[in-house]
Amino acid sequence: MKANENKKVQETTKTIIPRSGKCSWGKCIFCGYGKEEYPVNVQALKVWLDRQLLDFHGDTLKIYCSGSFLDDEQFPREFREYVVKKCKDKGIKHLQIESRPEFVTDEKLEEFDELDLIIGIGLEVADDQALKLIAKGFTVKDYLKAVEKIHKHGFKVKAYVLVNLPVPNWEKLFHKTMELARKTADRIVVMNLLPHGKAPILEMWARGEWKPLSRKDFEKVVAPYMNDPKVEVEFETFRFIPNIPNEKKVFIEGVGKDYIEHPWYNIWQDWFSRIYEPPAGKDIALFVPCSYTKPYSRSKTHRLIDKAVKLSEKAKRIHRIVISSPGVIPFEFNNYYPFNAYEWDERLETPEVKEEYVRINKERIKKYLKAHGRHYKHFIAYFRLESESLEALKQACDELGIKLVLGYNPETYMRLVNEGEKRPLFREELLHELKSKLEAIK
Ligand code: SF4
Repeated sequence: MKANENKKVQETTKTIIPRSGKCSWGKCIFCGYGKEEYPVNVQALKVWLDRQLLDFHGDTLKIYCSGSFLDDEQFPREFREYVVKKCKDKGIKHLQIESRPEFVTDEKLEEFDELDLIIGIGLEVADDQALKLIAKGFTVKDYLKAVEKIHKHGFKVKAYVLVNLPVPNWEKLFHKTMELARKTADRIVVMNLLPHGKAPILEMWARGEWKPLSRKDFEKVVAPYMNDPKVEVEFETFRFIPNIPNEKKVFIEGVGKDYIEHPWYNIWQDWFSRIYEPPAGKDIALFVPCSYTKPYSRSKTHRLIDKAVKLSEKAKRIHRIVISSPGVIPFEFNNYYPFNAYEWDERLETPEVKEEYVRINKERIKKYLKAHGRHYKHFIAYFRLESESLEALKQACDELGIKLVLGYNPETYMRLVNEGEKRPLFREELLHELKSKLEAIK
């Protein structure tokens, strides 16, 4: 859609998300919103709606509700009637709502006479066995019955279809679903399956039983439908990051393979190497160590590095990336869980643990660099010379043919160590060398 067309749609269309009650089902394995619950208060909903529509003078209202707008328990009839009246008073002709099929009845549909109504139904997949596996709680027949009723009242159907469901032959089933949706629905929204925080599928990802598609893989699957005017394609309907729910967050403390390959670390590493995009304009990758203090930004190590980086004329081009037991951590995520809630005590490392650390992190770094290496023109490392993170980084860069530059002169480092300095990375001399190396970049 062109920018001016988009602006026009914004002026004529209002999208609202009323919070009321909860989805009557709440069990779909990919959905977290359906587990949220809010008080049902018709008076408060009416006041809220009035405010939402105060300055709106367009003709289309879209209501997204994570559940069913036609479910009396979630949205009492009194509120639905208020919405219809409000639409008529304000000259809103087109109304879009969402509902599970079991709430689509003739009686409820009659409430919307005189409006051009479109009802969104999350069909997801047109196969009963697959619907059972994703715990959708209805069958294809239920969807078809609802579609028939909606059409009988002269209203329209918007079918939501998910790509990459955790079911056997999902790709074949997706195309079969599109065939049915094209025949039965007036509009189709094809969405990439991305897990919400409370969705059970997040744990399937952590167990390695399923993983989200990258943008490239998603676009390949949906390519045959891109030019169908009935079809909208959505790679990301919300800002997707591995959002670990609060009740599943634990402080990850320990040393050894289980603590390097913690499932929460693994899903983030997968996300960084397939879905994440490094910040635009930052073409100098500066690899740095973690710190005992979390988030890293509050530690002395990082405050000193920060100072050296900020003093450099190249500051805007530098992307700081931490290498630590959770893997590769772009610095902008330093205060996200689990990167702000772990401890790896180096004093407990055995030679075997060190070897494992280098082996696992080398692979993670390679995956990151294979995905994003072209984003950067320069690769600088600022670690202790004897650090395993530096070793993993060097091996990864060697294997990929990437030129890695140490952020200081090793002679200076060794001299400081020989003088008894325990933390040479903190020393002004070394930080000054880092700044000079950054300055020297063209
Ligand atoms: S996808 Fe829809 S029906 Fe399923 S739990 Fe979520 S809100 Fe409820």
